[in-house]
Amino acid sequence: MSLDIRLFPCLSDNYGFLVRDEATGLVAAIDTPDAEAILAALEGTGWGRLDLILNTHWHPDHTQGNARLQAETRCEIVGPEEVRRAAPIDRVVRGGDTVMLGETPFEVTDTPGHTLGHIVYRSAADAHAFVGDVLFNLGCGRLFEGAPEQMWASLRTLSAWPDETVIWCAHEYTAANVRFALSLDHRPEMAARARELLAMRERGEATVPTTIAAEKAFNPFLRAADAADFAARRAAKDGFSG
Ligand code: ZN
Ligand code: FE
Repeated sequence: MSLDIRLFPCLSDNYGFLVRDEATGLVAAIDTPDAEAILAALEGTGWGRLDLILNTHWHPDHTQGNARLQAETRCEIVGPEEVRRAAPIDRVVRGGDTVMLGETPFEVTDTPGHTLGHIVYRSAADAHAFVGDVLFNLGCGRLFEGAPEQMWASLRTLSAWPDETVIWCAHEYTAANVRFALSLDHRPEMAARARELLAMRERGEATVPTTIAAEKAFNPFLRAADAADFAARRAAKDGFSG
């Protein structure tokens, strides 16, 4: 059992993802920021099919390609109930459910905070997770709908996954996140990590994926002491212009 995963930039700072289950050749798109960009990326893979869309949350930059992609490929659309607000969906899933892509099971976990219905998808066997707008490289999603306690609990759930879990974040926010992280964390290893990430951006490289190990070591939100400290850090980031 293994997955072939392709990442490509979409819109201004989103990433699109195409995932192929090697055993069966079935293909999924994780979120649908831009139908045209996803169809072009699909063409580039030569995979020749799209079977499934997995939505993480209802925001348009994650669902606005659903209708067009389904019209083009007849793929099935799976996601949380809240997607109905914004886009077509065929099958609703929630925490504890499993979605199969061919022979690969994706476990669904509820991760409220950014939106109330936000979910993430993890293939535990090969340690890949698609986390939408919950966790970013050195960052986390803004609290548009949930309370800080909810987002803190969601982040704690992710940080309990195995260290080697590969984290596919839905946005490239790292350059701004680095500046905020450096304002709170003055360790030399943080400075070294910041230099490494900024050099990747200067070379035009994606800083996604990251890993649970790296985020536990450097992400200022995962490193918060408790829910209250997390809430303070999230509020500080919202007003941060460093
Ligand atoms: Zn969002
Ligand atoms: Fe987003």
